[in-house]
Amino acid sequence: MQHTCYCVTAHNQPLERMDVTTPEPKGAEVLIRMTGAGVCHSDIHLWEGVYDLGAGNKMTLKDRGVTLPLTMGHEISGEVVKAGPEAKIQTGTSCVVYPWLGCGECPTCKSGDANLCTVKTRSMGVFSAGGYADYVLVTHERYCVALGKLDPAEAAPLACSGVTTYSALKKFGPKIKDEPVVIMGGGGLGHMALTVLRAMQGKGAIVVDIDAGKRKAALEAGALAAIDGAAADASKQIMEAAGGGASSVLDLVGSSATIGLGIASLKKGGEIVVVGLYGGELKLPIVYFPLRGMGIRGSYVGNLPELKELVALAQAGSLKPVKITRRKLGEASQSLSDLKAGKVVGRIVLVP
Ligand SMILES: [Zn+2]
Ligand SMILES: [Zn+2]
Repeated sequence: MQHTCYCVTAHNQPLERMDVTTPEPKGAEVLIRMTGAGVCHSDIHLWEGVYDLGAGNKMTLKDRGVTLPLTMGHEISGEVVKAGPEAKIQTGTSCVVYPWLGCGECPTCKSGDANLCTVKTRSMGVFSAGGYADYVLVTHERYCVALGKLDPAEAAPLACSGVTTYSALKKFGPKIKDEPVVIMGGGGLGHMALTVLRAMQGKGAIVVDIDAGKRKAALEAGALAAIDGAAADASKQIMEAAGGGASSVLDLVGSSATIGLGIASLKKGGEIVVVGLYGGELKLPIVYFPLRGMGIRGSYVGNLPELKELVALAQAGSLKPVKITRRKLGEASQSLSDLKAGKVVGRIVLVP
């Protein structure tokens, strides 16, 4: 059997349609028919072949071990069509795929934190074939999270933007139910964070963005307040909106400016979780950590148990689906160009 994929064969060139031999699932592997593949902003970096590290430094994808041709797509939903002899999953199961794979063997992977594996990174759509294809091989049935009646195209983004914001918000602990979270960045990820925070019964969000349109959209989406991060008194405004300083700051931008503003807005004991990869450097008096009881940590995507929890929230109706635009798989290349040109409202999800 053969199947079709849309691949990066040369950086910055249109994706190429390729017809390849469909792998036969062995062991606990599972073959799925793609029912949804989100086009994520990070796919643009993969396509271009470079990450901007700031200050004129660049990291190429080749340095990270990405090889071409590459089938991108890490937000994958599918229907199980064939299961390996050891896979305990029914054919016909509709699922979203956990894509942040590691070696699968080390203690970190076995505990479920494959996203933090240091032995071997095998993330789907980055280091191995992903969802811009009509069939996808999943290396173990455990990475297929059953969706039940959820719309597979709407559920696909849970594997990246969904689990990323959920995992980051979880790191603040139960205080998000009593105190607002300051969200730096009101774009697509910020919108997902608002939705996820609501599903987690959070008190609410104060969204900080330098773009007036994004602030307006955040308020319409239910943010408690929206503040211009470029205002001279931005930290004062944030502290007031948070009722005397922020206890939790989720930085989805990750620039020197947003972290600096976050630190200036914290109350004692406050914490910052950094997700954004904008880049830059941080210079900080070390005494802030003990004297202000401050914490800064990073969060990278999320783990498999977290994706399962998020899917359960969606199934319970607590997590509202974010707006998606459906496009045919054959429009993968055009979709990527449109996203890069900023012509896309809501998440593009490729469908068969
Ligand atoms: Zn992504
Ligand atoms: Zn591992």
